[in-house]
Amino acid sequence: MSKELNEDQLAELRDDLLHLQEQLREMLAQDEASKPVQLDQQLVGRLSRMDAIQQQEMAKANRQQSERRRVTIRRALESIAKDDYGFCHSCDEPIGYPRLKARPDTPLCLRCQEGAERDH
Ligand SMILES: [Zn+2]
Repeated sequence: MSKELNEDQLAELRDDLLHLQEQLREMLAQDEASKPVQLDQQLVGRLSRMDAIQQQEMAKANRQQSERRRVTIRRALESIAKDDYGFCHSCDEPIGYPRLKARPDTPLCLRCQEGAERDH
């Protein structure tokens, strides 16, 4: 049991993760159901054609982000099962309830997250 989270908090975060997982699953399923726009079938000018390409790129980026998030959520649920949830993957310090409540699948504490963003 994590020394930072009590049982109620852990149960709540686990529910949040399951809820997020379900939301993402639905989103990705919907995305799969909608076929991509056929550009050559559109009677459109150059500008709207570029808009359509841009929209497809954005949809692709969103989808990739959702798929990455789905992996972090699954890992978070796995770490709950292994009883090591809530600790930073980088420095092993407790991440803390407020940050986990805001983003229950985060693998990093705020300090390490900020460090990782600075390095980019
Ligand atoms: Zn850390």
